[in-house]
Amino acid sequence: MIKDNVKRVLDNIAETAIKSGRNPSDVTLVAVTKTVTASEAREVMDAGVVTLGENRVQSLLEKYEVLKDEPCWHLIGHLQTNKVKYIADKVSLIHSVESLKLAEEIDRKFKEHKRIAEILIQVNVSGEESKFGITPYDTFGLVEEISKLENVRVKGLMTMAPLSAAPDECRRYFHDLKKLSCDIADKKIDGVDMQHLSMGMSGDYKEAILEGATIVRVGSALFN
Ligand SMILES: *Cc1c(COP(=O)(O)O)cnc(C)c1O
Repeated sequence: MIKDNVKRVLDNIAETAIKSGRNPSDVTLVAVTKTVTASEAREVMDAGVVTLGENRVQSLLEKYEVLKDEPCWHLIGHLQTNKVKYIADKVSLIHSVESLKLAEEIDRKFKEHKRIAEILIQVNVSGEESKFGITPYDTFGLVEEISKLENVRVKGLMTMAPLSAAPDECRRYFHDLKKLSCDIADKKIDGVDMQHLSMGMSGDYKEAILEGATIVRVGSALFN
């Protein structure tokens, strides 16, 4: 039952947040609905989840047709520049920015809707080859460039641990992302607020929270 799954995940999040010395309300659950229908997405909303995440623009648009702006929509997967225009009036956070070119297009399209885009920079902390995201080394420079754009606000960092990694290995990558986030915050770049760390999925969200995640992206643990 989806409802029971939501309750179990929210309980785990709360318990782990407290264990890491934070409030349960400091960690947001994004329900990743990429493998399910709009009506199953509706069930997690009915169980108390406010934010839905989609990794593809097309599937976000399909569900948006049905659910409109009742949930907060997050785009969590790779975003092609030519698709920004479809989501600029719909999403409240984009987790997956990894180039200045993409950020510039987000700036243009959000401007057309008189909106400020909130974004995260996707960092490839593990160095795994197939993954999207930029290197930790390049992150500071990109944040600095993006901070000059009028309608884009950097709100933090996102990462995906390698799918093959065991939870304690993931924890090391999450620790590295947290450290990178603190280092960037220390530079006090104008307009940049390193408020969010989006890390942790069904298999490793507890490890991520212990390392400081403020957003966890959970799919299969809710819908299987
Ligand atoms: C699918 C996906 C998730 C959720 O993965 P689960 O293991 O099903 O919880 C999280 N983040 C991104 C970017 C995804 O594409």
